[in-house]
Amino acid sequence: MNLDTIKTPCYVCEEELLENNLKLLDYVQKESGAKVILALKGFAMWSTFPLVSKYLKGCTSSGLHEAKLAREEFCKFNPHAEVHTYSPAFKDEDIDEIAKISDHIVFNSPNQLFKFKDRVKEINPHVELSLRINPEVSSSPKDIYNPCGIYSRLGTTLANFDERVLEHIDGLNFHALCEQNVDALEEVLIAFEEKFSKYFKGMKYINFGGGHHITKKGYDVEKLIRLIKKFRAKYDVEVYLEPGEAVGWQTGFLIATVLDVFENGMNLAILDTSAEAHMPDTLAMPYRADVRGSGEAGEKQYTYRFGGNTCLAGDIMGDYSFNEPLKIGDKVIFEDQIHYTFVKNTTFNGIKLPSLAICRKDGALDVVKEFGYTDYRGRLS
Ligand SMILES: *Cc1c(COP(=O)(O)O)cnc(C)c1O
Repeated sequence: MNLDTIKTPCYVCEEELLENNLKLLDYVQKESGAKVILALKGFAMWSTFPLVSKYLKGCTSSGLHEAKLAREEFCKFNPHAEVHTYSPAFKDEDIDEIAKISDHIVFNSPNQLFKFKDRVKEINPHVELSLRINPEVSSSPKDIYNPCGIYSRLGTTLANFDERVLEHIDGLNFHALCEQNVDALEEVLIAFEEKFSKYFKGMKYINFGGGHHITKKGYDVEKLIRLIKKFRAKYDVEVYLEPGEAVGWQTGFLIATVLDVFENGMNLAILDTSAEAHMPDTLAMPYRADVRGSGEAGEKQYTYRFGGNTCLAGDIMGDYSFNEPLKIGDKVIFEDQIHYTFVKNTTFNGIKLPSLAICRKDGALDVVKEFGYTDYRGRLS
C-alpha cells in the first residue's frame, strides 16, 4: 500500500483485518450456535459486503434507509441473509416499505407494536416481530451511550411491559452494552432473566444486542460462547448478537495531510480533516484517537495540537508528540477510524468528506468512493 500518493483525507479499510474480525465472529457463531448480524449504524461500508456477507447472517438496521441498504447491498451476496429493523418509533409513511423488506421488526414499546402489528403482517405474513426490553441494568461507561440509564426512551421496562404483547411476538431484544467485555453481558443477563424469563416460553429467539467488544484483544470469547450455549439450552431459543463496532474494530485508519504548522503558545498543526465532521466520537465520547508514530504530549521532542480545517474553535483531535518536527505536506494517520466515523460524517463548513478506500489483501489500494462539491450541495437547497 503506497500512502505517499494517496489523496487525502481518506478512510482506508484493510480487508485482511476486517476478515480477521469476521472469522472470529464466525467462530463465535459456530461454537455457540448464535447468529451474528451486522449493526449498520456502526459500520456500513457496503463495498465490503461481498466479504462481510460470507460470514455474518444479516444486518440490523435502525430504520428504513439502513434496511434498504441491507436488502440491496447485503442480501444480494447472501440470499439467506436476514434484515432486522428496529426504530425507537416507526412512522406511518415508512412502515409499509419496512415491512416489505424486513424479516424481523423490533418494536420499542407495546404502543408501537399494537399500532403496527396488523399492518406489517398484512404486508409481509412471514415477518417476525419482537419487542425491545430495557433490562434497567448496564455498566455502560458513558451516559450518552447508556440505553438503560434513568429516563431512557430505549426499550420497554418491566413496569411498562404489557402481557398482551406476548401472543404477537416471536422474540425479545435488549441492547445494553457499549464496548464491553463478557462480564458486563453476564450482569445484564442476570437482571434480564430475573425480570423477563417468565415470558420466554414460546419465544423463538432472544437478541442480545450490540456493544460486545468481541474482537478487542483480551475479550473472553470462550466465556461468551459458554454463556450463549447455556442460555440457548436453558430456554430453547435462538440467540442473536448484533455488533457494529466489533466488526469494524481496528480494521483501518483515516489518513490526512498537514496543511499548516505554526505556534501560538504551543505548536499547532492544521489538517485537511476535521474532528467535528470526520471523527465525531473524538468529541462526543470523547476520546483521543491514536496517531501512527506519535506519543502523548511531551513524550517525544516535538508536541503539536492537531486541529481540523473548519472554523469551529473546538475542532481539535488532541495533542501528539513526534521525534521529528512536522512539515507541511506530511501525512498523519489516525488509527482505528472505520467504525462510527463515515456513518456519522457531516459536510459542516462545506469541508470535503474523506474518500473511502479498501486495502486489498495483496496490498492494492482501491479508492471505492470520492466525494466533492455535489455531495455538499445535494444536501442543501
Ligand atoms: C448501536 C446498536 C447496536 C450496535 O452496537 P455496537 O456498540 O456498535 O456493537 C446493536 N443494536 C442496537 C439496538 C443498537 O442501538
